[in-house]
Amino acid sequence: LIKAAQNNTLTLVIFIDLDNFKQINDTLGHLVGDMVLIETTQRLQRIITPSSTLSRFGGDEFLLIIPDLKNSNDAKHIAATILALFELSFVSNNQEFFISTSIGMAVYPYDGTTSQQLLANADIAMYKVKEDGRNAFSFYNADMNIDVQRMLTLDSHLRQAITNKELELYYQPIIDLKTEKIIGAEALMRWNDSEYGFIPPDEFIPIAEKNGLIHQLGDFALNTACSQAAKWQKISPLQISVNFSSVQFRYYERLLSQIQKALESSSLPPQKLDIEITESLLFDHNDGVITMLNKLQSMGAQLTIDDFGTGYSALSYLQKFPFDRLKIDREFLTDMRYSEEKRELVSAIIAMAKALNLEIVAEGIEDNWHANYLKEMGCGLGQGYYYSRPVPAKEFEVILKQGINGNTL
Ligand code: C2E
Ligand code: CA
Ligand code: CA
Repeated sequence: LIKAAQNNTLTLVIFIDLDNFKQINDTLGHLVGDMVLIETTQRLQRIITPSSTLSRFGGDEFLLIIPDLKNSNDAKHIAATILALFELSFVSNNQEFFISTSIGMAVYPYDGTTSQQLLANADIAMYKVKEDGRNAFSFYNADMNIDVQRMLTLDSHLRQAITNKELELYYQPIIDLKTEKIIGAEALMRWNDSEYGFIPPDEFIPIAEKNGLIHQLGDFALNTACSQAAKWQKISPLQISVNFSSVQFRYYERLLSQIQKALESSSLPPQKLDIEITESLLFDHNDGVITMLNKLQSMGAQLTIDDFGTGYSALSYLQKFPFDRLKIDREFLTDMRYSEEKRELVSAIIAMAKALNLEIVAEGIEDNWHANYLKEMGCGLGQGYYYSRPVPAKEFEVILKQGINGNTL
């Protein structure tokens, strides 16, 4: 950077991250993972000039620094060359597989004048590529900066949100499709920020997962939902479903004791707590997690696999984990009426869930057609706007007392 400043030249900083490297490690083993890293290095070495610096930055991240960059076209050319290196397959034990990369770039002095700024901005650009679907490159630029500003502000506001009482749980009824009775409720978090207003959980949960606040948010959801459900037992013996992030399971021993505490202090019977976890946990677990889930189940709590069908639902994982219930992701229902393919997928999921003795919930039921179709296919439970949107506790209580009757809501 000192040289670049003296000579008035550009320096390109490139972050190269392998896509889904974790899966290679998990499915093919660490030796194959090591082989991929070594071969990646060799491929990269082939295309760089002697004045460039290539390093392995950590894990599956590589850093490439290129001095004397002429213009952004040259940078694009380099990035495209790197992407093309991965059009070639990797081979191990006669097995052939492909890995793509995500590339983020920052240019001195436009995107930063210190190494810290440049690294951070190349990293941000790389994450942008990941979010947009991987196997591509991106520059760090001003547009991205705006997104990042919002994220940084939300990040710092979120720290205060719990103490400022800006977080609230909404509840969406879960219905027995045959009797149309409410058998449960899913607790869904809502955040009303002083500056940005209503922030959807799809935006703030990932932030909380990155900055570690997910543990506090999770405790809040768990304790609030349990004590609310305990009060509602007098009206109806409903079960409460609480969402858990796989990040919360990194400290599974702490999580287990938090769940036990929440049940004790609310006096909610464990049978009335349903723990929703997503497929990503299945991929990202260690054996302690399975032991912990088994403990929860033997305490009487129920375990649900959430968003089923959106990730990598290997059958072997489903059997290894002690699930009671499977939730079909609402994505499958969106155009099910007009798509035979979707209908066949849903019927395959239902058949599989039955074979594994799992109770089935369909989420995203938006009309009568959905409700009837799923009922006929043998799906027992459902939730969706057709029955009720997620509503604040007070409104939910009214619905609980009146019961659900389809469109009249
Ligand atoms: P999810 O677990 O898949 O939750 C269901 C989402 O579907 C909710 O979105 C709900 O409002 C929406 N939904 C329900 N019925 C319908 C329908 O008929 N049509 C459509 N289009 N949507 C429907 P919401 O509340 O925005 O939550 C989004 C996601 O945020 C949740 O997805 C969950 O992954 C996460 N989340 C929410 N609360 C928590 C929480 O307390 N902890 C954790 N870890 N994650 C949470
Ligand atoms: Ca859920
Ligand atoms: Ca879902």
